[in-house]
Amino acid sequence: QTEPNLSVTVVGASGDLAKKKIFPALFALFYEDCLPQNFIVFGYARTEMTDEELRETISRTLTCRIDKRENCGDKMEEFLARCFYHTGQYNSEENFAELDSRLKQKEDGKTSNRLFYLSIPPDIFADVVRCASGKAFSKTGWTRVIVEKPFGRDSESSAELTRSLKQYLVEDQIFRIDHYLGKELVENLSVLRFSNVVFEPLWSRNYIRNVQFIFSEDFGTEGRGGYFDNYGIIRDIMQNHLLQILALFAMETPVSLDAEDIRNEKVKVLRPMRPLRLEDVVIGQYKGGQSKGGKSYLGYTEDPTVPNNSLTPTFAAAALFIDNARWDGVPFLMKAGKALNTRRAEIRVQFRPVPGNLYKKYFGMDMDKATNELVLRVQPDEAIYLKINSKIPGLGMKLDQSDLNLFYRTRYLKEIPDAYERLLLDAIQGERRLFIRSDELDAAWSIFTPLLNELETKKIAPELYPYGSRGPVGAYYLAAKYNVRWGDIAGDE
Ligand code: NAP
Repeated sequence: QTEPNLSVTVVGASGDLAKKKIFPALFALFYEDCLPQNFIVFGYARTEMTDEELRETISRTLTCRIDKRENCGDKMEEFLARCFYHTGQYNSEENFAELDSRLKQKEDGKTSNRLFYLSIPPDIFADVVRCASGKAFSKTGWTRVIVEKPFGRDSESSAELTRSLKQYLVEDQIFRIDHYLGKELVENLSVLRFSNVVFEPLWSRNYIRNVQFIFSEDFGTEGRGGYFDNYGIIRDIMQNHLLQILALFAMETPVSLDAEDIRNEKVKVLRPMRPLRLEDVVIGQYKGGQSKGGKSYLGYTEDPTVPNNSLTPTFAAAALFIDNARWDGVPFLMKAGKALNTRRAEIRVQFRPVPGNLYKKYFGMDMDKATNELVLRVQPDEAIYLKINSKIPGLGMKLDQSDLNLFYRTRYLKEIPDAYERLLLDAIQGERRLFIRSDELDAAWSIFTPLLNELETKKIAPELYPYGSRGPVGAYYLAAKYNVRWGDIAGDE
């Protein structure tokens, strides 16, 4: 039996995400021989473009991994020859019927699977799915649809979006992408927990005193604030990326590695989470200023794409709680912000102090700081390290804190694939483990929706913080309220 064709249609192919991430990821998969022999890509958008023009545009963004540079040019040519473009409206059945006939022509009568990647604003998802399902879905193989965030702005709009997609698709056809779930370190989180004996026994309120999920960018919206201003940092980063990581961190051991078993466990840990309260949140917005080097930066509301009176948070810190047997009383802190002093995403697990520590008097530091901390640095420069107390070599007894390190760069001498590569490959292979199921999404919105409504109806003003700083001081007070010290400001880079 011959292998089925695969046709990938990137809807919104004229956009930024398609150019920067989707086409390069497809090329990387092609180069790695992960795609079927008969594979083609169609770009679809309203912008008028020929096949040649699409190839020209995407050829500028394709790259080969450092260790795979031979044949790179030939492979690119082969890949580009499989790329085509169709101009069409998002709400035109006729245009999708034209796409269908072009797809059929290339598929040459063979069994064909079709993957649609919706890289477009969410308000047109339903139109596209309606037209594509009527005219351009595969008649011979499977059809799957990848959708990009945002999946709504709150519980209600998210449920509405799901309802409109499900008029034309069944849950199994919908692949809601959260690219954080495709990151190497996030994948490794479960491996670390479930295939080492040394972590899982400690993974509970008995030994862990708090967990921190930190995301920071060292740049602002820089003229691209239109989309962001509608959503803000809580919806853009916390409700999805950070909460997804939290669910993987805190879930019980799944029955197996099957997608449904893992997603069941994620829902089970999201549902007992308390809805976030206003007093457990600090919001901030960056203001303009000058760096030490004299460079001046625009504040968020000075961005021409942002309304002058915007109250949209560009920073938020929050304390969340899971009311279940494993995590009762343990603060899960999140912090996310733009225009901060550094760019990073990490998980920090702070363990409890050793009871009755025999070595108390030998610590040259505050005992409260001399606790174990496990850090998973998701980006940049992936790493896992565990802070341990250790004796400083020499006569006498002096203790110090050291790291047990796993730096990916030095341990694994290979380039780490982009998250989009892994996720696209999973969608092609029908692996749903790293995609978000609709009940997970509902549970996630239930935690954040009451807070988001309150922030908006009460018009709560964000605390201003200078561009390039560590963010609002309110975040320190919030942590202190729960007896927590943010690990990322304790000085280890
Ligand atoms: P984009 O450039 O703004 O939009 C992609 C394409 O959609 C555009 O080239 C345009 O194509 C069409 N489009 C834009 N606005 C439209 C509108 N109001 N009505 C109809 N069509 C419109 O977005 P992107 O940065 O590529 O991102 C794609 C989607 O992924 C976005 O909707 C965003 O929500 C989501 N997303 C993006 C990122 C990112 O890093 N960029 C990250 C996460 C999620 P034509 O005008 O040619 O039809």
